[in-house]
Amino acid sequence: MSTPWHILGAGSLGTLWATRLARCGVPVRLILRDAARLASYNAGAGLTLVEHGIAQTYPVTGETPDIPEPIHRLLVACKAYDAQSAIAQLQYRLVPGAELILLQNGLGSQDAVAAQLPQARCIFASSTEGAFRDGEWRVVFAGHGYTWLGDAAHPAPPQWLEDLRAAGIPHEWSADIVTRLWRKLALNCAINPLTVLYQCRNGGLQDHHCEVATLCAELTELLERCGQPAAAEDLHSEVQRVIHATAANYSSMYQDVANARRTEISYLLGYACQAAARHQLVLPHLQQLHARLVDYLSARGLASH
Ligand code: NAP
Repeated sequence: MSTPWHILGAGSLGTLWATRLARCGVPVRLILRDAARLASYNAGAGLTLVEHGIAQTYPVTGETPDIPEPIHRLLVACKAYDAQSAIAQLQYRLVPGAELILLQNGLGSQDAVAAQLPQARCIFASSTEGAFRDGEWRVVFAGHGYTWLGDAAHPAPPQWLEDLRAAGIPHEWSADIVTRLWRKLALNCAINPLTVLYQCRNGGLQDHHCEVATLCAELTELLERCGQPAAAEDLHSEVQRVIHATAANYSSMYQDVANARRTEISYLLGYACQAAARHQLVLPHLQQLHARLVDYLSARGLASH
């Protein structure tokens, strides 16, 4: 039997990966928070994936973090702010040389996890797939996309990419994963916070094009100073293209705030501002945007870190 995929976090992306791997016969174990979540999960028939309007349920095996079984391969599918503490509870189960695939958006959490686990191989991922939960243990596959995976320290691709191919998970092994993550972070910083502050869809930012252009200029400066010139190339044009192409959509940060959920601000705009400070770079509009967003979240009782 091939090496099981342990999946930490049965949320949107965790379920999207678990169900597709399970349906092609790859062994999958779903790690839930605690005994209460496991009991709730075991009361049902498994994980349900809704794709093209059709729901299919897969009886993926669930477990708690504290069982003694070793873990060779772990897909971390928590939010960026939960990744370190979620991994800490099962750290002792990781075999030396275990592989972790980190699906978190933004930057900062991946390096923190890698520092926490010097014996493990940490593979960073960046995904344009989209999914959301429409019930307990049930996820809707909302946006088909692509996942790039890479390991800046060890550029050889792992054998298990074959499992992803078999599962129909569109992916590519990327030599420049950190550049991809920076580019995505910059796009996010130029769009998502403004959609929260102006309470608009992405297309609503067409009315604020000067502000978007100023932010893109500062983000370009930041990326160049951080040694990421490729991530900075034509940033403003791509931001405009994304605003136009996704005009009818609400950004993920907008949706988090609308649903009173914690945002990943510290790993996005917060990370960008910290990187600027580290390089003694003064980016007044980016810093002001961060301050406005922090105030906005705090006024609504949402975490601003
Ligand atoms: P999500 O739906 O909120 O799922 C996160 C899951 O992690 C939840 O099920 C949560 O458990 C679980 N979790 C948290 N702490 C845990 C712990 N200590 N032990 C076990 N499970 C724990 O989040 P998501 O949307 O899948 O996002 C995951 C990451 O992918 C984020 O960084 C996000 O930005 C990124 N991403 C998401 C999408 C998307 O379309 N959803 C697309 C691209 C990137 P509970 O259910 O018990 O709360």
